[in-house]
Amino acid sequence: MASKIWLSSPHMGGTEQSYVNNAFDTNWIAPLGPHVNGFESDLESYLDTDCNVAALSSGTAALHLGLILLNVGHGDEVICQSKTFSASANPIVYQGATPIFVDSERDTWNICPEQLEIAIKDRISKGKKPKAIIAVHLYGMPYKVKDIQAISKKYDIPVLEDSAEALGSTYHSDKCGTFGEIAILSFNGNKIITTSGGGALVAKSLKIKEKAVFLATQARDKAVEYLHSSIGYNYRLSNVLAGIGRGQMEVLDDHVKARRRVYEFYKESFKDIKELTFLDEPDGFFSNRWLSCMVTPSEEIREGIRLSLEKENIETRPLWKPMHQQPVFKDYPHYLNGVSDELFEKGLCLPSGSNLTDDELHRVATAIKTYFRA
Ligand SMILES: *Cc1c(COP(=O)(O)O)cnc(C)c1O
Repeated sequence: MASKIWLSSPHMGGTEQSYVNNAFDTNWIAPLGPHVNGFESDLESYLDTDCNVAALSSGTAALHLGLILLNVGHGDEVICQSKTFSASANPIVYQGATPIFVDSERDTWNICPEQLEIAIKDRISKGKKPKAIIAVHLYGMPYKVKDIQAISKKYDIPVLEDSAEALGSTYHSDKCGTFGEIAILSFNGNKIITTSGGGALVAKSLKIKEKAVFLATQARDKAVEYLHSSIGYNYRLSNVLAGIGRGQMEVLDDHVKARRRVYEFYKESFKDIKELTFLDEPDGFFSNRWLSCMVTPSEEIREGIRLSLEKENIETRPLWKPMHQQPVFKDYPHYLNGVSDELFEKGLCLPSGSNLTDDELHRVATAIKTYFRA
């Protein structure tokens, strides 16, 4: 059997281990330490704007704290892009709030400005103004930042920007992770850079960052004894893992180049197969191409390709199943236009790692071409 080709696997650059060794040598084996601070400043310089980063144990933890910092509580409503990974929506329910799902548009596959405004007006007319909008840069493609910001401003509802998949992407040269009132990043094992598990919250002010760190470290008030006047969480990133993150930051730009090259390779390889289409970048949008995705003519063909690649030991996956179709979320309100359902039916994510070899890429291309020749 040919070796397994993964959808997106960890890719170490080489210096990560020396940062980890340093953590061991100095005995900073704790959810604080010089690597945590260093990783935060690395991210702040990379994002290249006035922002304040709190390193956390996961992107999901960052979303949870983000909602808390936006004062989302029991009985509130929060709008969430339906086409996403479940971690975008779960923290809404942690807070006892209600997720309101909104469909995507075709240009970026992200939250549709028209449906968003329809949803906001309808929720207001039913008596509740949503407390936040969770918008996601899916597969690294920025959402329509300008349109979403305009709606956020018009109705005075803050955006919680889920940039878990989009570190390294830009919108008119500004980095993803800097657009929301609060933004989040993920360094899970499958993301463009990884700390094995980890995440970050990006805040516009130092005060909000400090509040995030306070909540993430058990909400200990300033006192010698353990004094608590609010509920805390254990959400801080380990200094050992932050060391991996520091090493990964040195190769982030290389990873973006490599993933974009993978996307270009597929697009070029399948340019004569009319049945397969790819999502181009609209003007001013720059995607890190975290995952390369293609759209097939039907669910039957998508499954045909997926199963024939599986036989070749190549991992692929349908595009995210929209949240409004998930058993756990299907009874929540949703505002749909059919786009995310259709993409789920016809779309397939291909192996996209920055560490894929030319041989592996050719194996994927050959398997797909063979499917269409058969
Ligand atoms: C990975 C991911 C998350 C969650 O990040 P974790 O670090 O795995 O908790 C949230 N949203 C999206 C869109 C993701 O892809």
